[in-house]
Amino acid sequence: MAVFWEKKEFMVYLDNAATAKPCAECCEAVIKAAEERFGNPGSLHKMGILSEQILSSAKRTILNALGGECAPEGDIIFTSGATESNNTAILGAAEKYSRNGKKIVTTAIEHPSAAKALDILEARGCEVIRLAPKDHEDFVSALAEAVDGNTLMVSCMAVNNETGYAVDTARLYRLVKRANPRTAVHIDAVQGFLKMPLEGDLISVSGHKVHAFKGIGALYVKKGIRVAPLLAGGGQQKNLRSGTEPVELIAGFEAAVKAYRGSAERFTELKKRLLENLSKMSGISLNSDEKCLPNIINFSVSGIRSEILLHALEENEIYVSSGSACSRGKKSGVLAAFGVSDKNADSAVRVSLCADTSESDIDFLCENIENGIKRFRR
Ligand code: PMP
Repeated sequence: MAVFWEKKEFMVYLDNAATAKPCAECCEAVIKAAEERFGNPGSLHKMGILSEQILSSAKRTILNALGGECAPEGDIIFTSGATESNNTAILGAAEKYSRNGKKIVTTAIEHPSAAKALDILEARGCEVIRLAPKDHEDFVSALAEAVDGNTLMVSCMAVNNETGYAVDTARLYRLVKRANPRTAVHIDAVQGFLKMPLEGDLISVSGHKVHAFKGIGALYVKKGIRVAPLLAGGGQQKNLRSGTEPVELIAGFEAAVKAYRGSAERFTELKKRLLENLSKMSGISLNSDEKCLPNIINFSVSGIRSEILLHALEENEIYVSSGSACSRGKKSGVLAAFGVSDKNADSAVRVSLCADTSESDIDFLCENIENGIKRFRR
């Protein structure tokens, strides 16, 4: 039988924006819940109540972790991940608020799980305005200025998954509500959760980006905000998300949030080291600027296609991404919206850090990029 992958002692994993390794605390909590709290949280007996306690505790933990002024006053819906959270928020809010107007303001840098839900609304007759960061010095103001009396929703990511570009969601929220208090504000906060304070009427987060398992996510719904459910079924989670709640995954999600160890200071140190190393090489251009969070660093290595470098690094157990893992080699257009040329986008590499990333990981990466340049640059 072919063995495609062997567990290696040595690995430099720098693709945490694609997915982060589940932490020990998460794995332990999942197993404990599976062994001891396997009841259906909808059951009326003790086993059901024990499971239900996991849901309410995890909700509290996630609400507190969202930060921001208004975040704690709301509810959490557990979903299968941020793709579902984004779809529920965008399609569900558009259904409930269709009377507020036909216009939606968004960005040209959204993840496909938001962008394609917005495409559906456009096909149904909504006017979707997509702004690109490259066109606006003050992007948040530009988004808010596009809001008028006919705007039913603003949907904007907190942090871009390809470059780390971050938006001040509290300021965006304030300015949008000033322009039109009835406009619902949705924030895809997958890459921002636990890394910055967040604000919104609807906020999407995902477990596997914060060292929990894949297949669990959440949607924050501010008090008073309505969304139509995507799924018909048993009416769980106040009829907003039918289906038996995955208690084990939720227990793991809560444990991962509590155990999260990433820090902006640490990421900034590591980013500085990476940039210092890269500055000694020729033909490197940075696609992540000072508006970006420090844990995601996107840069282009001229003369080498992303995939070539990615696989060369992989030969030495270094894992990075070409642009976004979600676009799987397809040109996403997101880098263009940041003003990156097509040529540079073709040679873009994304390095994304986690709390376990070390100085020697960064140095080993840079050593191997230098070797890659010698080997492949034409
Ligand atoms: N939004 C952003 C910004 C993302 O980075 C991702 C995952 N790459 C998603 C949404 C989708 O999340 P999930 O994998 O949980 O469906």
